[in-house]
Amino acid sequence: MNKDKAQHIIIIGAGFGGLYAAKQFLKGGNNFEITIIDVRNFHLFQPLLYQVATAQLSPEDIAYPIRAIFERHPNITILKERVSLVNLNNKSVTVDHGELSYDKLIISVGVIPDYFGNDSWEENAPPLKNLEDALNIRKKILTAFERAESEILHPGDKYPLNFVIIGGGPTGIELSGALAELSVYALKNEFRKINPERSKIYLLEAGKNILPGFPDKLINSAKKSLEQLGVIVKTNSTVTSVRTNGVEIISNGSSKFIQSKVVIWAAGVKANFKDSVLSTDNNVKFDEKGRVLINKDLTVANFKDVYVIGDFGSLMDDKGRPLPATAPVAMQQGIFAARHIMGKSPAQFKYFNKGSLAVIGRNAAVADFGSLQISGFFAWVLWAFVHIGYLIGHRNKFIIMVKWAWNYFTRKPSARIILRDFAGR
Ligand SMILES: Cc1cc2nc3c(=O)[nH]c(=O)nc-3n(C[C@H](O)[C@H](O)[C@H](O)COP(=O)(O)OP(=O)(O)OC[C@H]3O[C@@H](n4cnc5c(N)ncnc54)[C@H](O)[C@@H]3O)c2cc1C
Repeated sequence: MNKDKAQHIIIIGAGFGGLYAAKQFLKGGNNFEITIIDVRNFHLFQPLLYQVATAQLSPEDIAYPIRAIFERHPNITILKERVSLVNLNNKSVTVDHGELSYDKLIISVGVIPDYFGNDSWEENAPPLKNLEDALNIRKKILTAFERAESEILHPGDKYPLNFVIIGGGPTGIELSGALAELSVYALKNEFRKINPERSKIYLLEAGKNILPGFPDKLINSAKKSLEQLGVIVKTNSTVTSVRTNGVEIISNGSSKFIQSKVVIWAAGVKANFKDSVLSTDNNVKFDEKGRVLINKDLTVANFKDVYVIGDFGSLMDDKGRPLPATAPVAMQQGIFAARHIMGKSPAQFKYFNKGSLAVIGRNAAVADFGSLQISGFFAWVLWAFVHIGYLIGHRNKFIIMVKWAWNYFTRKPSARIILRDFAGR
């Protein structure tokens, strides 16, 4: 390392991977000039997006300005720009308003929803990936109840108060549980003509089980908790078409149509950057989801100065299983990549799996620590502490604790506002 001139490190993406990499460099002295590039001006705590979508939290509770995180660190520059090209041969990054060159590059741009070739479904089955999505879904959910109440103006026109969530992974579970609590408790007594409890929430999963990867005991516990809340869990149910008024599915061999005005996509993800951004001319290898196949030290083959971390990187563990697309993997890889650049990391990245958590609702969660598996109240408390612990910013930690306490005792979440768009809708 050249001790006279600070190395220029570019970090693309201030999600979990990029943020933890940047923070690690703060411990490495002044030999680094860091530029963080993100298309957004905030770090987003994606695990709580479903709470914004279901009116429990407000957008700013789970987002934190990137500039505020690094305000005391003059060697960190933040650019709110969209990266449109990474040229690994020239060691340059092209953004909307120019080009920058780097000594080392860390790419942590995450993933985007995958509609498995049916991109037209997105219009009627929006995903939950960013804050705009969460607000869009919140509006759709709350509007559905309002529209149903207006039935009185259209006698005979029974508005279907059905909600469909596609995908039985942790996001689908969390969304359907929170939506059920909203219908059963929060909105109860507030409407005159409809009973919000009449809403039907369908959770559709193409595989044979929800929460793939979790042990059977916890899967059964999660399913039971969801069903107690009134969620209709349909496994072995593949969506074959999404329309404005519902979804067509093949469930256990027979086809069925579920009428619904609110369908949410929580089924799959694929690479964010297209091949054209990280040019394949450079012989970069991608997996079937378009994520970059990386070396054990998280670098890209033939490019020792380029690290791909987090959801956008594709790496197997010691047993040949792909590392999960989760926040802890991204955070640990961010720390590893930064330390590797500083010459402080071992030769190979090793993921330390602290366990998996998924929440269903009030007092109901599942936690898998391998030999220890817990469900119910204690798993839920643990889930709450872990999320508070990893949130960025004292303000957000404090506000969320207060809101959770309020919601817990009153069961009346306050973010139930429907914002009109510019067209006044
Ligand atoms: C709804 C939801 C719930 C989740 N729940 C959990 C959970 O409970 N537990 C868990 O461990 N994980 C959860 N995850 C997964 C977890 O959030 C991801 O694994 C983690 O965010 C990956 O970190 P990352 O740094 O790879 O990408 P991200 O955190 O997605 O960050 C990517 C960053 O790159 C920026 N970016 C993208 N493209 C460009 C571009 N062209 N130019 C500039 N910037 C760009 C984005 O703005 C973003 O800030 C959840 C994800 C979602 C969507």
